[in-house]
Amino acid sequence: MEEWRRILAESVVTPKDLAAHLGINPREIEAVVGDYPMRITPTVLATIKERGDAIWKQVVPDPAEMEDVDAEDDPLEEDLMSPVPHLVHRYPDRVLLMVTNQCPIYCRFCTRKRLVGKPGFLKKGELEQAIAYLKEHTEVRDVILSGGDPLLLPDHLLERIFKALRTIPHLELIRIGSRVPGSLPQRITPKLCEIVKQYHPIYMNLHFNHPDELTLEVKAACGMLADAGVPLGAQTVLLKGVNDDPEVMKRLVHQLLLARVKPYYLYQADLTKGTNHFRTTVETGMDIIRALQGHTSGMAVPHFVIDAPGGGGKIPILPPDYLMHLDEDGAVLKNYENKTFHYPQPSLAPSLSPVGRGEGEGHSRELPMVAAQHSLSACGNGGLDDL
Ligand code: SF4
Repeated sequence: MEEWRRILAESVVTPKDLAAHLGINPREIEAVVGDYPMRITPTVLATIKERGDAIWKQVVPDPAEMEDVDAEDDPLEEDLMSPVPHLVHRYPDRVLLMVTNQCPIYCRFCTRKRLVGKPGFLKKGELEQAIAYLKEHTEVRDVILSGGDPLLLPDHLLERIFKALRTIPHLELIRIGSRVPGSLPQRITPKLCEIVKQYHPIYMNLHFNHPDELTLEVKAACGMLADAGVPLGAQTVLLKGVNDDPEVMKRLVHQLLLARVKPYYLYQADLTKGTNHFRTTVETGMDIIRALQGHTSGMAVPHFVIDAPGGGGKIPILPPDYLMHLDEDGAVLKNYENKTFHYPQPSLAPSLSPVGRGEGEGHSRELPMVAAQHSLSACGNGGLDDL
């Protein structure tokens, strides 16, 4: 047995096991584990420092999961956008392909709580059906392998999938979403890296939520993937009591860059049943972006997005105060120090000028937003260098 499989097999999966390690009352979580499976790898277990800390909250089942009765199992409506089993075609030129429902750990806030860890996922012939769909749909240039966690598949199966995808001429990119490097770093083997190298361009978006997850071993696993030519991004979910704090988030993005992982998305938590106790306000996310933007390296700042309920897709959210006003003369901007600046528009071509359009038609770019006057006077003269 490969070492990573042996380590995975040592994970905590029952309330009794967990009680032996963390001293909890197993009866408190029996019902939760009955509905939503638990798995905690030895690597993750070792990073829990105390009851209720950021790592504990992410992986230890909580009775609050069972109290969330009104929420939906699939608020993003992935199942409705699935033309063939396990494939979600929401955006025009890219698809999501769920190749397994097994994960190294079962995150308590998972959007796919309805699927992960349950028996009987990929049935015979379903992968071929998905590949056939991709062959027919020439508009698809980007496939995201997800799950579950694709890197839990054995090497030969992963290679079979890569090989099949690379027979599709119009498919340009393969992306993988994975929590494996952060929770089962032993899985990132030289052999896996050799396989991946043969099917580039392969990108990976790794899931990290807290700086304590970036141990030396985890950073080494990320380094192996980076050395294999895989561009690495991080996806982070904004979680109450885990990372809803600008200082924690700043430490996280710095640790990610040290691990050669570019912070990519910060997600507002979804409305998934069993996870609503993790939700924060939208303002919390905007405050985090404000605390990062301009205060640290630009490449450390992720896109803050809400995956719109009802299948609307990812919508970027920026604090509204950066662009204070925009019209045909220019933009009034506020920087991270609260100073305001004016950026002039290029001169409009005569055919597009307000005069050329006739009276009353010349203000199509004006936005009914922000009280620029108010903001400007609030700053006094300070910083308003160019107006
Ligand atoms: S690893 Fe990803 S898919 Fe698996 S439980 Fe965690 S969030 Fe969900």
